[in-house]
Amino acid sequence: GGFLPFEHAPYFNFAQPEVAQLQRAAFQQVREKYVGQRFPLYIGGERVEGGDTFAVHNPADTRETVWHFPKATAQQLEEAISGAQAAFESWRFSDPLQRATIFKRAADLLRARRMEFNAVMTLENGKNWPEADGEVAESVDHFEVFARETLRWAAGKPVYPMPDEHVTTVYEPIGVVACISPWNFPSAIPLGMALGAIAAGNTVIWKPASETPLSSLLMVELLYEAGLPRGVIQFITGTDDVLGDPLVDHKDIRMVAFTGSREIGCRIFERAAKVQPGQKWLKRVMAEMGGKDPTVVCHDADLEAAAVGIVQSTFGYAGQKCSACSRVIAEDSIYDELLARVRVLASEVKVGLPEDNAPLGPVISAGSAERIMKYVENGKKTARLVLGGERAELGDCQGGYVQPTIFADVESTDPLFQEEIFGPVLAFTRARDWRHAIELANDSEYGLTAAFFSRDPYKLAEARRLMQVGNLYLNRKCTGALSGTHAFGGYGMSGTNAKVGGPDYLFWFLQTKTVAQRY
Ligand code: NAD
Repeated sequence: GGFLPFEHAPYFNFAQPEVAQLQRAAFQQVREKYVGQRFPLYIGGERVEGGDTFAVHNPADTRETVWHFPKATAQQLEEAISGAQAAFESWRFSDPLQRATIFKRAADLLRARRMEFNAVMTLENGKNWPEADGEVAESVDHFEVFARETLRWAAGKPVYPMPDEHVTTVYEPIGVVACISPWNFPSAIPLGMALGAIAAGNTVIWKPASETPLSSLLMVELLYEAGLPRGVIQFITGTDDVLGDPLVDHKDIRMVAFTGSREIGCRIFERAAKVQPGQKWLKRVMAEMGGKDPTVVCHDADLEAAAVGIVQSTFGYAGQKCSACSRVIAEDSIYDELLARVRVLASEVKVGLPEDNAPLGPVISAGSAERIMKYVENGKKTARLVLGGERAELGDCQGGYVQPTIFADVESTDPLFQEEIFGPVLAFTRARDWRHAIELANDSEYGLTAAFFSRDPYKLAEARRLMQVGNLYLNRKCTGALSGTHAFGGYGMSGTNAKVGGPDYLFWFLQTKTVAQRY
């Protein structure tokens, strides 16, 4: 309505020296502007400073503390929730056109500062340039998509008529939404959930992951600058004992929108089911969780395209995407050839500093590297190691660097095949034929993304019908969902299938009112 046609934000071409130079300059500016700073909370429309803080470290070298954020207290959590309730009383009646205009303005503001946002993200979560840029571009897309979705849902939907009544179906907001997000997409994921809530007329408690709070705070401040009344987003950071269960359990929270691990997602789902004293609704829970995403390769596939897609989707951001490929299931007749090609391409994925735009950077923390290495050590006993299998050293940097690692001949019962590792580790499994490959792909408790490579239209049609995932990609890699186009969310234990960026997403944050009037 009234907007230019939608286009996805283009990526920067860092192969051009001038563009790379600008990104390098942005790192320098970000270091001067932000490193060493203490950042605030936003509660009840006020900027809140002071109190205890925690340090955020650069995962590329954890000796470097990049910035500090407050540890919100239980009292501040109470104030944030009551602030969000107070703001709801006016924001719920705000004009959808006003909301859409704020999102459009935020998109413009962000377009002008993308390289700064990229640099902040790299310094706190270790993404290299194109990975960070892809996420910031996705955030621009979110603003543009949610501006349009706001107006689309505001129109209501038609009902079947009757002669003597005027009947309308309209959508109304529900209340205060707690948005709880992971560190691996620290801008786009919390932003998607928060925009869903706000577009629908709700107010938000924004609780980012403690590894990556600045990528979130910058988005919140951008929205304020674009004209969002401050009370509509309460921004709080701190420890899980204060902001985890107590936030989810609180009687005044109407909905929890969560993206993160299966363990915490299930915990939230269970806890939110309990009706607390004084609570006047059944809480809604959106819980988007992990994945164990397969790439199926048939003998008639374009093997080179499959190999390139596998390597990009497995080792991009060190495998730390819920959508990352972690299993390759290949038909027997091309298994060895595909494995050999993937091995060559993966061995070219060099470990290095994300700030220097190395292809393979650190995993998020030492603890994460240890967890990954446990799977790798175990895999050496149960499968055939064909690449990597060790940590990588990078000078005297203290970071969780892991070599690109591939195991072959992995059994479907192996933890390498069944469990989310969240690191640069790939399992190859041999299938008798393509139908067996589909069965193996579906042999998972998860069901987030999958890729399927074949040139045979019949097999592609069968894959469409049979593959049990929320995001299925035919003849392309399984990462890189675009807002507005590839609505994102999985099946099974990957979660509630929220489908962020899709045509039904706002319905999660709305309730439906039917009004019948006689004259
Ligand atoms: P996590 O579950 O450890 O943490 C996510 C958030 O939950 C953090 O903000 C954390 O502080 C908070 N939290 C911790 N304990 C809590 C509690 N008791 N109550 C409420 N909140 C609590 O996940 P992570 O390590 O940050 O992220 C990685 C996981 O996220 C992976 O499993 C990945 O697959 C998943 N993920 C899923 C999607 C998706 O769309 N399906 C997208 C990105 C990441």
